[in-house]
Amino acid sequence: MKNAFHIMLIPTLGCPSKCSYCWSSEEGSPVMSIETVQEVVSWLKNLNEDRVTFTFHGGEPLLAGADFYRNALPLLSNGLKHLKPEFAMQTNLWKMTPEIARALAEYHVPIGSSIDGPEDINDSQRGDGYFRKTMDGYRIATENGLTVRFICTFTCESVKSREEIVDFFHKNGFVLKLHPALPSLRSENPKQWALDPETYGDLLVFLLDKSLEHFGDMEIMNINDLCRCVFTRHGSVCTYVDCMGSTFAIGPDGSIYPCYRFVGMPEYVMGNVRDHPTPEELAQSGPGKLMARYKEYVDRECGKCSHIRYCRGGCPYNAIAPTGGEIKGVDPHCIAYKRIFDEISERLDREMFESPPMEMTGFQQGHGKRKKPGVMALMHRSVSDY
Ligand code: SF4
Ligand code: SF4
Repeated sequence: MKNAFHIMLIPTLGCPSKCSYCWSSEEGSPVMSIETVQEVVSWLKNLNEDRVTFTFHGGEPLLAGADFYRNALPLLSNGLKHLKPEFAMQTNLWKMTPEIARALAEYHVPIGSSIDGPEDINDSQRGDGYFRKTMDGYRIATENGLTVRFICTFTCESVKSREEIVDFFHKNGFVLKLHPALPSLRSENPKQWALDPETYGDLLVFLLDKSLEHFGDMEIMNINDLCRCVFTRHGSVCTYVDCMGSTFAIGPDGSIYPCYRFVGMPEYVMGNVRDHPTPEELAQSGPGKLMARYKEYVDRECGKCSHIRYCRGGCPYNAIAPTGGEIKGVDPHCIAYKRIFDEISERLDREMFESPPMEMTGFQQGHGKRKKPGVMALMHRSVSDY
């Protein structure tokens, strides 16, 4: 998410899969019409001047079909030329067809998909047949010019097989992006699959070590992002910046929400694209005011934390949604964020201290003569690749 302004388009909340820990699909959800996409264009035309990234998310966005993308992509791209739109999509790939893949490839839409490790581990938490269907879609996508990266959701069960999962990504040459399973607010037992914050912190440190062990032949995106945060002292993914006001999600009926995670929750509707709300009107909506109160809360609660500049209290959804919209704390993953930010900062200090003074004259030289790459090398790579 390199652009400052991020719009998530949710063509439908429907999904053909039934992942055990899912919190974002809804049976019988309608599909976004092209008229709604036209309203998105009219609404955004004068909203602000920031470059924009559109991410098609779900539910399962491919359920919208080839015609939707053949129409929606040129509408958004040509209608908002002055905002230099870029696109992305998050999909399980089951419904990928050569027609949709070609429509997406024309607009260079990078694909994020989901695989939780080898077939048995993946299917035990995402359902029988999931792995094969996603891999079939992966082949269609890549054969038609799309690039695909996989998000790997770690649950409290799959984390026990973390070595095997990393090996799977390494052997297949896949970039790994970690997603911790969240409590599913739609489930009777919300924490059944969720990754607790302490285990999440351990996992991040484990992945930091794996990134170093496989330096040069495997990429773990979260570790790159975290190293970049510490080095630049600024968040570069939504969890570690104030996302409110720069991120919105639009549901199938044109309702505007603070983020895709809130889509389908009526209490978080900020307005509708058909009414072309101004930034002030969005900020004055109930969810807009709630997000602003969360930001002030973070300034108070995290004020003494050495990581506040590049953590910003984590994800507001994680903090607010499970408590029914009441602000009772920051993102419960705080424990994990502190653990990994402390670990990276301490290793950085150690490496700087251990480097002979002559080597400390330049960032690159600082790690150039080390036997094994350390966090400085990861920082250098993640900053120069960004
Ligand atoms: S609410 Fe959370 S997931 Fe959504 S944009 Fe903000 S930080 Fe990202
Ligand atoms: S690590 Fe925790 S205390 Fe520090 S800024 Fe992040 S959420 Fe706040």
